[in-house]
Order: sequence, then C-alpha cells, then structure tokens
Amino acid sequence: MKTKEVSCSFCGRKKDEVIMLISGIEGHICDHCIEQANKIVDTELSPGETAKEGKKDGEDVVLRPSEIKALLDQYVIGQSAAKKVMSVAVYNHYKRIRFAVQNPTSEVEIEKSNILLLGDTGTGKTLIAKTLAKILNVPFCIADATVLTEAGYVGEDVESVISRLLQSAEYDVEKAQKGIIYIDEIDKIARKSDNPSITRDVSGEGVQQGLLKILEGTVAHVAPEGGRKHPDQKYTKIDTTNILFICGGAFDGIKEVINRRVNRSELGFKTAKEQESTSADILSRTTPSDLKNFGLIPEIIGRLPVTTYMEPLDKATLRSILTEPKNALIKQYTELFKMDGVDLVISEEVLDYIVDKAIEYKLGARGLRSICEAIMVDYMFSYPEGKSKSKLKISIKDLETQLKKANITSAA
Ligand code: ADP
Repeated sequence: MKTKEVSCSFCGRKKDEVIMLISGIEGHICDHCIEQANKIVDTELSPGETAKEGKKDGEDVVLRPSEIKALLDQYVIGQSAAKKVMSVAVYNHYKRIRFAVQNPTSEVEIEKSNILLLGDTGTGKTLIAKTLAKILNVPFCIADATVLTEAGYVGEDVESVISRLLQSAEYDVEKAQKGIIYIDEIDKIARKSDNPSITRDVSGEGVQQGLLKILEGTVAHVAPEGGRKHPDQKYTKIDTTNILFICGGAFDGIKEVINRRVNRSELGFKTAKEQESTSADILSRTTPSDLKNFGLIPEIIGRLPVTTYMEPLDKATLRSILTEPKNALIKQYTELFKMDGVDLVISEEVLDYIVDKAIEYKLGARGLRSICEAIMVDYMFSYPEGKSKSKLKISIKDLETQLKKANITSAA
C-alpha cells in the first residue's frame, strides 16, 4: 500500500522540498512557514502597531519627547537617562527638518542632533536605535565602524553605509534621506595614539575623517543596487543632511580616562572609596575632552553633539527583559508553543534561575536568549510530534539537565 506523501498543511510544500517538517495534531508545518509565522508574531507585537495607532506611513506627525519615551518604554527596559536624552534629540531632529521646510529663508539654522551612545556591549544600544526607527516609521540600518576603511582601500568605504540605508528604504530616496543609521563600535576607530605615525591610519583616523562629511550632511553618491562602485555605473545621489546618525560603542578604558580627570580635579576632597563611582555614574560624566583623550578626533565629537550612556544591566533589569517588553523572549516562546497547542508554563522561580545563569556565565541580556534556546530546543523538537500533553511545565531540574546538555560556557 502506498503511504500518503507528507506535506506542509500551510503551504503544501512536500517533505523533500523543505529542511524540516514538524507535525502537529492535525497536520504539518515546514520551516518556511514557521519563519513566516514568527515574522507575523513579531510584527503584531512590534512598534509597527504604533504606526497604525498614531502615525501613518509617510505622514509627518511629530511625536512629543514624552510620547517617544513612552513607546521606547514598551521595548527597552530601564535606561531611562538614555531614553529621555534620545527622545528629546529625535524630537528636535524631526522638528529641525520641519523648520527648514517651513522657513526656507530663515537665518537660524537648527543644528543636527546626532547622538553618541556609550555603554557596555549587550546593554541595548542597538535595540534603542532600532526601536526609535520603528516608532518613527523611518528606514533604518546598522553599520559596523570596524569594517569601514578610507575610500580606495580594501574594505567598505563610508558611503556604503548610505547605500545600505537606501536598500532598507526600498530604494525610495526621499524616505532614505529621513532615515536613521546606527554606527556600531565607533570606539574601535579611535586614533590609536596621539602621535600619528608615518604610516597612514587607514582604519582609524582616516575613517573618522570619512564619516565626518556624512554625519554633517553631504550629497553621497551611492551605487544603486549596493555592491561595489563601478566607473560606468550611474550613482544615486543621497543627501545626508536629514539622516539621523546614532553612534554607539563600549569605549573600553574611557572610565579610567574619566576617573583620572575627575580624581585629579577633586583630589584631596574624596577618599579612595568615594572615588570608586559606579559604572553608569562615571559614564554620565563623560566630556568632549574625555572622548578626545580616548582617540576620537575633535571634529567627530563636534558632529555628535548629544552624548548619553547605557547603564549596566542588573539582575532586576535582566529579569524584566525576559518577560516585560512587548516582544519579550518568554512571550515569543509562549506564542510558538501555542501554535502547537501547547501551553508553556514557566514559574517565577525558573525565570529567576535563568537570570542567575546569565549573570553567572557573564552573558548579559544576549545570554538570556542562548540559555532559553538551550532549554527549549528539545521541547520544541519533540512537542510538535503529536504528543497528547497540552501543558509544558518547566522545572528547575529540567532546566539544569538541558543546560548541562547544551554546554554553555562563560563569556569571561
Ligand atoms: P548592544 O547594541 O548594546 O551591544 P543590543 O541592543 O544588541 O546591545 O542588545 C542585545 C539584546 O539584549 C537585544 O536584542 C535585546 O533583546 C536585549 N536587551 C539588551 N538590553 C535591553 C534592554 N534594556 N531592554 C530590553 N532588552 C534588552
């Protein structure tokens, strides 16, 4: 007897057309459809909703700083100082664009409020920038400063960043010109020493010089479909004047620079213990001269007039990150299991344990995801196999077993 060929109940793809086919109570789902469904869940739980509520695509509604912060609060836990400063900067940025349109002959020119974001890795710098772009419904892209080199050298030149934004705007030049670019690891292109050597600093100061122009506002010529520039190719012109740049970095070592300065000026007034301020405390005292001492060239510092910092994530914050944001990890897993008809139950105790492990392994917020994945993978593998159980309760013992199997190691 010929058995019926198994296929995805959603898209109809056959078993040999997909990587994975998972069976449920009444049918099967393939990896393509899981990915699709995941995207739908993400969109439903994402700030795109705010576009439906407040701001339609392409419509220039300026949200007030308090409104921007309230929306950020739904996705980014803690970091109130950064959220407040960035809400104001973004508000001013879009007001500035309106001002220029409404007052073309005005002598007053409102300056750009590009932002410099200092903070350890995994504290949410990228998340905050990405969420802002979603809230404002503008194109967004992330660039890594470490892969940029001066034009003419091997690597990506600075204008490739603009090209990526254009891609994210689906090649709509108007839209791209009002987008947000997040430049990660800006600290890694700091000048290596105050004493420039004879050999050119291709990846450091040279890139900073290249970034200067696009940060301030220039007409960049980008290859339309991405890729490398070619002499015969027609370039798309993108004016970067109204693109908001957010530059982030961990700035390892800047705390020592600030501490030295602070202690020098306050010497004799503080005991050694008092001098040991907390990490966030120190970063909040960053001045342009500290950034210069760290190795950013003064012109770049001048083009990033808004400076703010991210606080290290403590236990309570990590705990909230697991469950509170609109697209919190636990909410995502709950939805995924629900699609298989399984009710995921995770006790407070287990959630605390996950956080403790992330701290123990020094993995920060990123670690929450790897730990959760390690715990869930076996269940996600076996539960869709038509098990009669409709409730999945994870105990600390299950968790320990899964973590042992996954062999997660400490980051430090
Ligand atoms: P960074 O850019 O500072 O290295 P990310 O923004 O990439 O850090 O954060 C890594 C992940 O950790 C994010 O995807 C997010 O899920 C989580 N995360 C970090 N900080 C927060 C926060 N304050 N609130 C919510 N989630 C956070």
